[in-house]
Amino acid sequence: MKIENIETFIIESPIDEPFGWSMGWTNRRGGLVTKITTDDGIVGWGEGGGHPSASVIHDYFSHALIGEDPRNINKLWHKMFYMLHNNNATGGFGGDAISNIDIALWDIAGKASGRSISELLGGSVRDKVSVYATGLYYREDEFPTKLIAEAESYVEAGYKGMKTKVGGLSVPDDVKRVKAIRDAIGDDIYLMVDANKAYNAYTAIDIGNRLADLNIHWFEEPVLANDVEAYLEVKAGQPIPVAGGEVLRGRFENRDVLARRALDIIQPDVNLVGGISEFRNIATMANAMGIQVNPHLWGSPIMISATISLTSTLAPCPYSHTPRPYEQEPVMEFDQTPNPIRNELASEAFEQRGGFVEVPKGPGLGIEIDESVLKRFCVRHCTSK
Ligand code: CA
Repeated sequence: MKIENIETFIIESPIDEPFGWSMGWTNRRGGLVTKITTDDGIVGWGEGGGHPSASVIHDYFSHALIGEDPRNINKLWHKMFYMLHNNNATGGFGGDAISNIDIALWDIAGKASGRSISELLGGSVRDKVSVYATGLYYREDEFPTKLIAEAESYVEAGYKGMKTKVGGLSVPDDVKRVKAIRDAIGDDIYLMVDANKAYNAYTAIDIGNRLADLNIHWFEEPVLANDVEAYLEVKAGQPIPVAGGEVLRGRFENRDVLARRALDIIQPDVNLVGGISEFRNIATMANAMGIQVNPHLWGSPIMISATISLTSTLAPCPYSHTPRPYEQEPVMEFDQTPNPIRNELASEAFEQRGGFVEVPKGPGLGIEIDESVLKRFCVRHCTSK
């Protein structure tokens, strides 16, 4: 079996109601989807990053991949990494491009063997994966009625945890907003906050201490992603467990935060970290250090499927006779913000029940991409053959 051609689709969709976070307001959703076709007609789908990663795929990788057996995933992964490492380009868009190709190769390996990705990874440790709702972004005229209604809707839907944003308002106003959510959902639901790197260390410590009596389960990306010293300051200066790592690419960027124990929880993203292959390496390193892996997720059904499959295979952290989500078991992010791409791109959208999603069982990613929908969302299509 040989790789015959590689196509990329930059996709976009407007959304009905914009939402805000510490880095701005979003009125569109989008991403980059990769399709690899083999000479015997098997198609693999990948996802990761955005516009610039498509250039890396076509300008750097395609000539090195076309004609190769796609089932040699390790060989091709290291080939891609090698091509970028001399210019220190394996982070950022380079990592996104590797992720795209890697996920598509795993999809092909699964379809060629009739096995799901979790089966290819040695099988699931758990049949269903615990998820929490990501939502509660800033919205126009939200406080408090719309905000509280959204929080209550997640409890009614069966979620045991949810995450909101901080860093977009003043510290006192954000604290007031988080307190309104906690008061509405009661103390038995896990509540997390995410600053998306909005603070310096002393402001992160300030808000962490002000949120301390609201039973916040983790404080996500309080400071710049690579600032290990600032993470250590935040960990020491306030009582909420610190999470992060969603934008770190590859084992070398992740090594620095893990080795210094700069995080309590690490959140690798399969679309950015280097695909399924590298995600496993990061997860193993973290587990050996007693750092919980709670995967980041923000994309189409391609990455949702890949992330559920991966999460189903993660080791407990640590072992227990009665492993529980948030304590020993991983919990996966489950984006609840508006995204037509997430809902329409695949034959079946993933849904949670009682705070869990089922592990995909079909060959490869176990999803069918609706190519007419892909075409509708596509704003730029490129082919290498
Ligand atoms: Ca985040």
